[in-house]
Amino acid sequence: MKFLIIGGGVAGTTAAEELRKRDASAEITILSEEHHPLYSRVLLPHYINGKIPRERVFLKRDGWYAEQNIDWQGGVLASHLDARNKFVGGSDGREYDYDKLLIATGGEVRSLPEDLRGISYLRMLDDADHLLQLLTEQGETARAGIYGGGFIACEYLNFFAHFQLPTILAYRGEHFWTRSLLPEAGELIAKHLIQNGVEVHPNSTLERLDGDKELQGFVTNTERHAATILGVGIGIEPDFSWLRESGIEVGRGVKANEFLETNASDVYTAGDIAEFFDPILGRQLQIGNWMNAMSQGRTVAKTMGGERTPFQLVSSYATNALGLEIIFVGDVERAAAEEIHVIGSVADGGITQVFERGGRIVGGVLIGRNTDRASITKAIQEKQPFSSLNLL
Ligand SMILES: Cc1cc2nc3c(=O)[nH]c(=O)nc-3n(C[C@H](O)[C@H](O)[C@H](O)COP(=O)(O)OP(=O)(O)OC[C@H]3O[C@@H](n4cnc5c(N)ncnc54)[C@H](O)[C@@H]3O)c2cc1C
Repeated sequence: MKFLIIGGGVAGTTAAEELRKRDASAEITILSEEHHPLYSRVLLPHYINGKIPRERVFLKRDGWYAEQNIDWQGGVLASHLDARNKFVGGSDGREYDYDKLLIATGGEVRSLPEDLRGISYLRMLDDADHLLQLLTEQGETARAGIYGGGFIACEYLNFFAHFQLPTILAYRGEHFWTRSLLPEAGELIAKHLIQNGVEVHPNSTLERLDGDKELQGFVTNTERHAATILGVGIGIEPDFSWLRESGIEVGRGVKANEFLETNASDVYTAGDIAEFFDPILGRQLQIGNWMNAMSQGRTVAKTMGGERTPFQLVSSYATNALGLEIIFVGDVERAAAEEIHVIGSVADGGITQVFERGGRIVGGVLIGRNTDRASITKAIQEKQPFSSLNLL
């Protein structure tokens, strides 16, 4: 059996590892755009903040792939898929044929139309190296800016605080995570950031960068801000270009059922790129967190190996912004909820939003209230109504 995996992140690599465990003689190939063996994106902030050395971000050694008899093609991009004749064209000019194919390509960082030295993104290890280089070069003379109001913005807030740089934060929405948070939860976060010395500018759309080769500032619809480093965290987006003629159905991600099977036979998907039917939450979802990607990699490998297994997990993503803990559990899309219950308040310094649909809890956002995590996760798994929760 020939297994071909596109993407060597945690979803693709976990799938390869699981396939190998289940079948010692299978041929397993990974095409990986990145040159590095598997590393943890979750640990990149710890590396940037100097809590761990660079080598600690790696989860696999170079030699691991050969030891596992996995053919790892680093630096090779899948450039087209012929799902009828079952092969993938690589950027190295080769054709990789398969019996079963896994699409685990994650997302590409959404970037600005302009580029200057001082612009920083945060997705890959190379991005982390680049940011550290900028911070080292500029030292105390750096002026920090952040554009975006989500997970990556939180990471930049923590970096710039760690390096003791005054920080200007601008984002397009009225508050952080407008697709999930109610205004009072957004206010709680903004208040916390302001109290910690961040200059916060909501409702700001970036119009242009200021500077010749080196960044000197950025201009929004409301004003110009001085900055020599601008951390950009405006989301990720899928790259479907290589799937264009494959007939694979895509939406926000690569569409799949609860078995992570796409509409094409013997083609599967897992991780950030997968838009799968979630049998616990009862709708098609795309989830961008480590726990989800790793578990999907493991589950899809079972199905690819012949033991058809539905994916069932309530995953969560925990982050913090200057010490304020923020946790997302399950389905936290405001538009898909029928009711959102709020516990706590800005004055209390903590707010939990509980999302309910069809008389049962489907998700939760916890800000400064991480002790609610276990009971909300359990309530989602057990399809309990909000009235069953006992949060103080
Ligand atoms: C800085 C940072 C911090 C994070 N912190 C957390 C956290 O604290 N908790 C949490 O739960 N999640 C966190 N995440 C999110 C988490 O890391 C992702 O959800 C997870 O890595 C997704 O794994 P994946 O394998 O689906 O995709 P990816 O990790 O994106 O891997 C996909 C790989 O496929 C490659 N690829 C893409 N297209 C092609 C192609 N055509 N051919 C070949 N290869 C291709 C990509 O280059 C990439 O290497 C963080 C992410 C970042 C960036």
